[in-house]
Amino acid sequence: MAKVLVVDDQFGIRVLLQEVLQREGYEIFQAPNGLTALDIVQQEHPDLILLDMKIPGMDGLEILRNIRKLELDTKVIMMTAYGELDLIQEAMEMGAIAHFTKPFDIDELRQAVRDQLST
Ligand SMILES: [Mg+2]
Repeated sequence: MAKVLVVDDQFGIRVLLQEVLQREGYEIFQAPNGLTALDIVQQEHPDLILLDMKIPGMDGLEILRNIRKLELDTKVIMMTAYGELDLIQEAMEMGAIAHFTKPFDIDELRQAVRDQLST
């Protein structure tokens, strides 16, 4: 069973993604902040991470940087706000494979996760 970690400070987004992705048969972990996210990354080695860009404290880029320091080849999909092009660019340079602008189409996101976890 593939493991997916959802990192977002918004409870509603975490619950939505948890619900949708659990139905796909994945094991879902949630983190509202960077420290929790990095703990889960180290303990569970998720196959894919859905990572919010804008999080109070450690933001998405910083979290991604720390994940890369752990030298895990986890796939990362960023979730961004409109107009965060510079940040998206930076995330891509750190190996993020895709990004979705909020509010995203949940079916497109589900499909992207499916594609990534089937390869
Ligand atoms: Mg946020």
